[in-house]
Amino acid sequence: MFSQPGCLNPSLGMDTAKGRYDRAGNGATRSRIWKENRLGNPSPPMMPGPAPASLVDPQGRTLDYLRLSVTDRCNLRCRYCMPTAGPTPAARHEIMSLEEMERLANLFVRCGVRKIRITGGEPLVRRGVVPFMIRLAGLPARPEVLVTTNGLALVEHLDELARGGIRRINLSLDSLDATTWSRITRRQGHGRVVQAIDAVVTAGLGLKINMVVLPGINDHEIPDFVALTRSLPVTVRFIEPMPFAGDGKRLAKIISGEEILGRLRGRFELLPVVQDKAAVDRLFTVPGYRGRVGVISGHSRTFCAACSRLRIDSRGRLRTCLYGAPGANLLELMRGGGTNEQLVATMRAAIGARFADGQAAERAHQLVGRESMADIGG
Ligand code: SAM
Ligand code: SF4
Repeated sequence: MFSQPGCLNPSLGMDTAKGRYDRAGNGATRSRIWKENRLGNPSPPMMPGPAPASLVDPQGRTLDYLRLSVTDRCNLRCRYCMPTAGPTPAARHEIMSLEEMERLANLFVRCGVRKIRITGGEPLVRRGVVPFMIRLAGLPARPEVLVTTNGLALVEHLDELARGGIRRINLSLDSLDATTWSRITRRQGHGRVVQAIDAVVTAGLGLKINMVVLPGINDHEIPDFVALTRSLPVTVRFIEPMPFAGDGKRLAKIISGEEILGRLRGRFELLPVVQDKAAVDRLFTVPGYRGRVGVISGHSRTFCAACSRLRIDSRGRLRTCLYGAPGANLLELMRGGGTNEQLVATMRAAIGARFADGQAAERAHQLVGRESMADIGG
């Protein structure tokens, strides 16, 4: 199973805790390991070794993009994402420590992951998340580290993020109108998000603005969002709402990506942008505009054939498809004293059982609709 001897070999010093305590065969010290891990003691640093095999699923798709959810908590309550009261939060000890996340991220990077997106819940509400991101960006393989945020707390973290080498930010903004925004998010703070957009653009960082299109609520604003890209060098993406609101309900009607593009073509000349084949968005430019616009057809799932994404939710569960059941529990394995080899073998086994597409994954997973994107790590 473990295809890369040496890549994560305990003899290289990467699992000293496990090696040290387990060789003694002492049950009491095993529970100490668990406590230490729970308290977030860092795992020993990874040592250089032979290049590991990349992570490839049964369809031959290489998985080199990890979305890591650092919290299930959020300071907004977007209606397409969670019920009014929010999803039932995990107890604090059920959530991975930053050190546990760092250990996992390190393993994934060793196995070829090149891009790590920090998400949630709202990632910027997690204390210590910015230094954590900067540490990830500094891993020897230099993965690209990005963040998806609702923008409420972005301004105060922006300098540190930029200084730490974070070059691109995804920000969610579902309306340009404060009242509509509050209707969707069930909270106040629109002005802070608008300020964050200004600050990111001024800082010269890449910015993608995500807008979930809700029929009858904000769909009339689509042309206004496109107009933003006339003067701002930002990418605006219109997202189909997906069936993850944590309340089991599905929107009776959605506006598909195709329909959005149809509406836009009536008003703007859209020139397709050449993209990576694993991109989930379809992007366009409007002649004379500085930014780009696009759609993400997450509901229609038109991008599964090239999907390169893995997710780890804040409880340490590996998810090989947004629509699928949570797979291996990596946190449990770590706290039980699992070695890096066991972790990688478990990751590979989960990837080996990956479904061909989100439709198949959904058919096999009873809980779709009862989970929130904030739990899954959207
Ligand atoms: N709190 C951060 C934010 O809102 O950007 C990061 C986490 S959020 C779960 C990540 C992305 O998922 C956001 O762009 C959000 O709009 C999107 N999202 C959440 N629930 C969704 C749903 N049911 N359908 C489509 N997109 C959704
Ligand atoms: Fe929070 Fe993001 Fe979900 Fe909105 S979409 S409730 S900001 S996690």
